[in-house]
Amino acid sequence: MKYYSTRDKNLRSPLKEAVLSGLAPDGGLFMPEEIPIQPLPDLTEKSLLEIAFQIGLPFICEDISESAYGDMIERVFPFDAPLVELDSNLSVLELFHGPTLAFKDFGARFMAELMSYLIRGDDSPLTVLAATSGDTGSAVAHGFLGAPNINVVLLYPSGRVSTLQEKQLTTCGKNITALSVEGSFDDCQRLVKEAFLNTELRKSKRLTSANSINIARLLPQSFYYFRALAQLKKRSDSAVFSVPSGNFGNLTAGILAKKMGAPISRFLAATNQNKIVPEFLRTDLYTPAPSIPTLSNAMDVGNPSNFERLTDLLGDTAKDFAPWITGHFFSDEETLGAIREIQERYEYSLCPHTAVGALALAREQTPGIVLATAHPIKFTEEISRAGLDTSHIKMPEQLKDILNKESTAISMPADKSAFFEFLSEL
Ligand SMILES: *Cc1c(COP(=O)(O)O)cnc(C)c1O
Repeated sequence: MKYYSTRDKNLRSPLKEAVLSGLAPDGGLFMPEEIPIQPLPDLTEKSLLEIAFQIGLPFICEDISESAYGDMIERVFPFDAPLVELDSNLSVLELFHGPTLAFKDFGARFMAELMSYLIRGDDSPLTVLAATSGDTGSAVAHGFLGAPNINVVLLYPSGRVSTLQEKQLTTCGKNITALSVEGSFDDCQRLVKEAFLNTELRKSKRLTSANSINIARLLPQSFYYFRALAQLKKRSDSAVFSVPSGNFGNLTAGILAKKMGAPISRFLAATNQNKIVPEFLRTDLYTPAPSIPTLSNAMDVGNPSNFERLTDLLGDTAKDFAPWITGHFFSDEETLGAIREIQERYEYSLCPHTAVGALALAREQTPGIVLATAHPIKFTEEISRAGLDTSHIKMPEQLKDILNKESTAISMPADKSAFFEFLSEL
């Protein structure tokens, strides 16, 4: 299968180029030229691995053998996405059982394994650069940990990530190096961009970026929609999914799943005050804005990068979106209220992002499935600020390990000459 650019359908690239370059040559995002329809009855009660095999294979089978793909997904998904039914109208799809406790593990681990496979046999080592404001970097790092012939360099803003996030970024070791940059997240992103623009550096180093718009991160996110449906006790004809959204990768993967034939009736785009897409759905105007900081900070996005993919899949107007997506947005106060209410009613803890998703279902009074995007233990500071007790939130094993490890990071001024010098000596 080839991958076209959202800005020019005639511009097609093979999988290796699409995955290693991330962005199409004209600045568009890559999309698969075909969305194979899946024979659905086959999927009931299927495991995540069986689904990943069946759904994923057609997208990459020209570049990887069936058996290599089977081995690959076993390494990518040593965890599941369990569906927890809180009551007959509200189920939660827990996407936080990977090593970094957020759904980004699904995409980042798949991308890392696929990149490693696609460069096998190439001579020059690959250097993966990732600027991170927290969660993405650790998912990427854990995905690439120990990959042969690949070095990963993470850049994070010094003092601006949580203690737990910093532990996750700085305790990998092996082929992962964490740079604590004396600056903001924007400085980190700028340094990465400058490295890509520097022709001299690019002559001596093979660079790639592990950023969130990579098609290899999007595809595996469609698997767990099928996995959720396979676990439904009562087989319904069609389910509603509520998706806590920021860059809209998760929701775009859901649309792919529906186009592949998953019995999904529609999606709720649940956002915090960064309500660009719900506003587009209401007014037909897409107006990017600077991001507003909120409690559900992984969704603080003022210009969602996957919007371009959504218009490619659905059409350009709010009317085109309407049969597929309904938008809702919520305040931090409402988010804390939802965490409290779900805790009291079901003794079940939500992270602030998942709470936004639960609010959207409640507003529509429709039965459905909320995607739980992160483990609540990652957000106990925010939850306790609501005056809620967090002592019952159990520490998962993955985290206990990380907290006991030694941190190692290199301090770096937000200055390109220091960064380039570091890279050339790597
Ligand atoms: C990244 C992230 C989101 C937003 O997902 P998108 O695919 O960018 O819409 C939501 N919740 C958590 C915990 C995240 O890390």
